[in-house]
Parts: sequence; C-alpha cells; structure tokens
Amino acid sequence: MAKQYDIVIIGAGPAGLAAGLYAGRAKMKTLIIEKEKDGGQIAQTAEIENYPGSLEVESGPSLILRFSDQAERFGCEKVYDTVESVELEGPVKKVNCSKESYEAKAVIVCPGASPTKIGCPGEEEFTGKGVSYCATCDAALFEDFEVFVVGGGDSAVEEAIYLTKFARKVTIIHRRDELRAAKSIQEKAFRTEGLHFMWNSVVKELSGDGLLSRMVVEDTKTGERREVLADEEDGFFGVFVFIGQRPNTEIFEGILDMERGYLKTDDDMYTNIPGVYAAGDCRVKSLRQVVTAAADGAIAAWQAARYIDENE
Ligand code: NAP
Repeated sequence: MAKQYDIVIIGAGPAGLAAGLYAGRAKMKTLIIEKEKDGGQIAQTAEIENYPGSLEVESGPSLILRFSDQAERFGCEKVYDTVESVELEGPVKKVNCSKESYEAKAVIVCPGASPTKIGCPGEEEFTGKGVSYCATCDAALFEDFEVFVVGGGDSAVEEAIYLTKFARKVTIIHRRDELRAAKSIQEKAFRTEGLHFMWNSVVKELSGDGLLSRMVVEDTKTGERREVLADEEDGFFGVFVFIGQRPNTEIFEGILDMERGYLKTDDDMYTNIPGVYAAGDCRVKSLRQVVTAAADGAIAAWQAARYIDENE
C-alpha cells in the first residue's frame, strides 16, 4: 500500500524546502521527494550575495544545506526517488516514483528548471570532456587553462567572474553586444581581470580529439564563421554554458495548465486542480530567484495546510 502523507512536495530546491519548512511548522505530515540532490540549480551556484539577510557571499550548496536542515528540524521527511507519474484529481492524490508510490491530501509541485543546451553538434559528445553547465562543479578542472562562457545573463556573468579564480583566461561569448545581466553584476564583470568578451557571437560546433579543443563561432551580424582552437600547449579548453533554463514539467503535461512549459498558478500558488500547488522556477512568473522561490514555497505550504484543514 502507498505510504500516506498530508502533503507531498515534489522537488527539494529552495521552493520545495521552504514549503517543507512551512508545512512542517503547520504540523502537517510532510514528505519531500527529490530525484537528485537538494538545491536544484542553486546546488550549482558558486556565490550568492542577494539572499536577504546574508551579510557575506555564500555558496549555493552552503545556503541550501541550511534550508534542508531547517525543514528537517520541523519534522519534514525526505526521500530520493524519481517521480514517474502523478494522479492529482480527487481528494487523494497519488505520486508514483520509480521505487515507491505515495498518497497525499495535497501536492506541491516544485520541480525547478534545467539548463538550456546550445543544441550544436558536439555539445552532447563533449559534455564532461570540456563542456560543462556547472562552474562550481568543474571550475577546478580548468585551473590555468582557457575557458569560454556562453551567455550574457546573470548566471553566465557571475559564473564567468567565478571562473577567473581558476582559469588563465575567461571569455564570455554573447550573441549580442550588450549583456542582459544586472547592472551591478556587469560592473563587477568589467572590473574583473582576466575576463574577456566575444560579442555578437554564437557557438555553432564543438569538437576535439577526446577532449574539447576546437569550436566554430559565428558572427551574428555578418554570418561569418571562424575556428577557435585550443592553445597548443594546453591541448584543450572549457566551454561553460549558461543560456537560461527550461522548466522540468514534462510529467504534468495535459494535467496542469501551462504556458510555454511553465505552470500557471494564481498568487496563492493554486494550479487548476484543487489541492495541487506549484512553486518556484517551474511557475509562470517574472523573477526567478532563491528569494522568490522560497516565498512561493511558503505560500503554497500555507495554502495547502488551509485546504487540508477546510476539507477534513
Ligand atoms: P537568462 O537571464 O534568461 O539569460 C540567458 C542568456 O543567455 C541571455 O543573455 C541570452 O541572450 C542568452 N541566450 C539565450 N539563448 C541563447 C542561445 N540559444 N544561444 C546563445 N545565447 C543564448 O538566464 P540566466 O542567466 O540563467 O538567469 C535565469 C534567471 O535567474 C534570471 O531571472 C536571473 O535574473 C536569475 N539569476 C539571478 C542571479 C542573481 O541575482 N545573483 C544569478 C543567476 C540567475 P539575450 O540576452 O540576447 O537574450
């Protein structure tokens, strides 16, 4: 028989963990299901300096550890398993994972988002052999080598700054001649030694002999293509990709209302199904930050607890 909970939360990023904390504090029997490791994209963020109340720059994993400990302290349980399907209609919701199934009176959906891929030839083949989506995880592999960072948003620019602590040379490849990143992050980038820019450029091909050592870059204005080769002594270089994200909402297709893959909710995190809430980066919203994900999670858990109390 499926294990029974008041609230099941799908995903242990900032939204899911904040929901777990609030649900636990509301004395709800709560389970968080996480498929990989806690933190979602924050687990791969080197430095966070805009989470309110943090006086020092803190790493994503360190911040998320505090989130996890706090949720646990209020009695929230957690399992590591992959959700394969959901049955959300009716008073008893069912969440079917690869190892076990769980039943709940309310479900909070917080699956977050995953990095967008460039989609060029060689990207998949050279992932882990030069191509990376996580500076925190892989920066040390490029100590004194050359790396390129693709993208112009907050993630690309912040992670590029971080990479200058390891790599000999870091070049941001951006498809326009102006960064999208917040002005304060841009100012820091322009002051950072060892950080260079390749404007109006997109990566069209990645290749090498075992390790990544060659790429083809196209000028977005002229269409002209050129080859970038690894320094002969190095023999390889790194390409870190930070060009946005896509929501991890595939299993909710046809079940929950969506807009371009993002889940639609109202201000109280209600989806189109009673007793089902969505929180964090998976949701249609204007600002995807740790602080907004945590706020979503708190609201969703509070509403879910109210829904359960009212329906008992
Ligand atoms: P983002 O803001 O969507 O930026 C994506 C960047 O990649 C843009 O510069 C975009 O270029 C470029 N891009 C998109 N598709 C591309 C493609 N196919 N080829 C080449 N370049 C491409 O994504 P993000 O930086 O991951 O940030 C996501 C959200 O998290 C944002 O809301 C951001 O503010 C937030 N965030 C905040 C912080 C912080 O506050 N410390 C840190 C990280 C992330 P264009 O500019 O030309 O569109």
